[in-house]
Amino acid sequence: MKTTLKTDITIKDICEGFVYNELEGKGLFGLAGKLTIQPEYQRNYIYADGKKDVAVIESILKGYPLGLIYFNTVSPGKYEVLDGQQRITSFGRYVTGKFAIMDERGMPQYFGGLAADMQQKILNTKLLIYACEGEESEIKEWFKTINIAGVPLNDQELLNAVYSGPFVTLLKEEFSNSQNANVLKWSAYISGTANRQDFLERALDWVSQGYIGEYMSRHRFDTSILPVKTYFNTVIDWVSGVFIDVEKEMRGLEWGRIYETYRRNPYDPKKVSEEVHRLYADPYVKNRRGIFEYILGGMADAKLLDVRVFDEATKRTAYAKQKKEAEAKGVSNCSYCAIGSESNKTKIWAFGDMDADHVTAWSKGGATDSSNCEMLCKSHNRAKGNS
Ligand SMILES: [Zn+2]
Repeated sequence: MKTTLKTDITIKDICEGFVYNELEGKGLFGLAGKLTIQPEYQRNYIYADGKKDVAVIESILKGYPLGLIYFNTVSPGKYEVLDGQQRITSFGRYVTGKFAIMDERGMPQYFGGLAADMQQKILNTKLLIYACEGEESEIKEWFKTINIAGVPLNDQELLNAVYSGPFVTLLKEEFSNSQNANVLKWSAYISGTANRQDFLERALDWVSQGYIGEYMSRHRFDTSILPVKTYFNTVIDWVSGVFIDVEKEMRGLEWGRIYETYRRNPYDPKKVSEEVHRLYADPYVKNRRGIFEYILGGMADAKLLDVRVFDEATKRTAYAKQKKEAEAKGVSNCSYCAIGSESNKTKIWAFGDMDADHVTAWSKGGATDSSNCEMLCKSHNRAKGNS
């Protein structure tokens, strides 16, 4: 890979013909049409938070270096940004009046309102740019490994860079656009943001059953994303159809896996809703995130709910009472051992060798209090196998 250091390009040069697409949230072109600011393999612009973008402008005004910027030379005199897109988009948006910085008196200042000398200081700032030339694969491999200043690329952003092409472009239009009206609905079930590719990642994760990289590689040059969209919408529709209530604990569950596991079973959404409400009101349920799969699985696996266990005092009280009664009768203090035929028939277990058991299982309505607590030896407790 060949690199050329350029030190004569100014912010003014870059901002000539600067285009920012508000809808897609990305800086598109600059340098009088010779520079593509956000090529397909770049992530979305994420500096528009009133902090990182402002910090870029403040650095320039203080004369601090903006750091190295890398261009990929597409053809002679034509470039695309390899690294530096967030910084370039930030000053491009500032110079074109898209946001304000605060002056020393705390007053917002847009570029147009700055004193002429400050405007000139920004426009005349020279950038340190490396223009690289090389094979596409070589540049992408390098892009994957450079340590990008600021916010590091996440896994999906890297995959988008490595497998860039028509498929990724179409996927980003659908799943990475925060203006998409469906984002609000998706957010009920998926955590993260459109900008950081979280919806795109889930859509690919679900359709590929977890093999995102392989899937992107196989479909890299596809010109339709219909299978991804259809599968994604099927999962979302299934979840929102089975669970008519939207609870915040639903966000970020493994809905793709859950859908594949339970989609063949019929459910009555009204009954499901009643169960959700009942379990939300149950003080013994420690893990509310497990409620949904617990119901889908026919309320058999109480482990999903991490049901509250007996407290130490309750266990000690039950242990003392059982031990006293067992010694009086000359039998084991584990009621299961006592009725068995093995050598443990008369064994008095130490407190540490026993576990608390719900006499009536929690899942059958048994409470987690002393009236429903029985100490069993560890192996019998495990054999009984409920909480
Ligand atoms: Zn026992």
